[in-house]
Amino acid sequence: MSLRGATFLDSVLQTLKRAIELGGYPQEVYEILSRPQRVITVNIPVRMDDGKIQVFTGYRVQHNNALGPYKGGIRFHPEVTLEEDIALATVMTFKNALNGLPYGGGKGAVAVDPKKLSRRELEELSRGYARALAPFIGPEVDIPAPDVGTDPQIMAWMVDEYSKIAGRNVPGVFTAKPAILWGNPVREYSTGFGVAVWAREAAKKLWGGIEGKTVAVQGFGNVGYWAAYWLIKMGARVVAVADSKGGVYNPNGLDLAAVKAVKDKTGSVINYDAPGTRKITNEEVLELPVDVLVPAALENVIHKGNANNIKAKLIVEGANGPTTADAEKILHGRGVWILPDLAANAGGVVMSYLEWVENLQWYFWDEDETRNKLERILLDTFNRVMNRWNKLGTDKVTIREAAYVEAVDRIYNAMKVRGWI
Ligand code: GLU
Repeated sequence: MSLRGATFLDSVLQTLKRAIELGGYPQEVYEILSRPQRVITVNIPVRMDDGKIQVFTGYRVQHNNALGPYKGGIRFHPEVTLEEDIALATVMTFKNALNGLPYGGGKGAVAVDPKKLSRRELEELSRGYARALAPFIGPEVDIPAPDVGTDPQIMAWMVDEYSKIAGRNVPGVFTAKPAILWGNPVREYSTGFGVAVWAREAAKKLWGGIEGKTVAVQGFGNVGYWAAYWLIKMGARVVAVADSKGGVYNPNGLDLAAVKAVKDKTGSVINYDAPGTRKITNEEVLELPVDVLVPAALENVIHKGNANNIKAKLIVEGANGPTTADAEKILHGRGVWILPDLAANAGGVVMSYLEWVENLQWYFWDEDETRNKLERILLDTFNRVMNRWNKLGTDKVTIREAAYVEAVDRIYNAMKVRGWI
């Protein structure tokens, strides 16, 4: 069992247990929500460019559908494990419930390094995965989307493959598709936008505003880049960014467009060079003297070994599961606010929901109207989480625990009226 997946699942289940105690829900709720309803394993043969067949193993974990169809991304990463996928699917159930979406939770994964495949091999694999899962997904059954290592192009191949099998166009079976193929332009930046909105709202409470606050971002993919972009737009000063190869730090603030250009050209932000800027490691970015830290890469990066070195007062989880339960205890004890994944990075799946609604009705909103709808949903969640946190006692419980109680409440009530418990 991989340590990464196991630790993450353990942290999720610990929080679930605590939320059930705090909310006074029956123990049966833990029995049901601590395991997925269904786990699907697929083995996908792909003819590689050298003529040989390679078989890739993948999963789709359908965690719980009390509130509606399973919903969550698909991860392409060489180190995925079933344990990690179960943890990610479990978080999706709570994320979707917390944000008031009519969805349960699910997550898919394929053990592959997509950067090592040719475009043709990647297309074959994506289509193969969609084919293997076709009997188990659908707009009212299970609706996948991108996650780490997957993107709108991959969704386009998958929706095309599924539509061929169905014998008709089925736009609502995958979300975060390219705008030309029933997607919405907001989806590209929606997760990062949501991270920035949550940071801005929390900063208002902590300091009266985000303007002038310094920010470090770990991860420069779809989430990290767009979070930095929107935070700058809102008046914050992004002083450090890092990707898997390392990062760059300038206490006066980075020129984000210039850093992005270097990343696109050379594959890493580490090659960015400008006066006043120095190189840092991927771990150092977490420990800089900043106001706000945005971990937007992978899970378990903030652990008990480095929690005490973190100087930020506000941590905004762009990634899923970046903080272990042990680290959270330490940081909460020090008065650090951690805006948890199921809240802070929900902009992606909330936007997926809006895209799905568009797809079901074959009617599309323009970019501004869509972003306004997205922001309204995020602000509503923010207010509910803060109220719940204040009610439960900000010194006694973490923001994550408050968010879990809020989420479990909806799932519990749905399971109860359905007669499951
Ligand atoms: N992968 C994203 C997440 O972890 C988005 C999921 C979706 O849009 O369904 O929330």
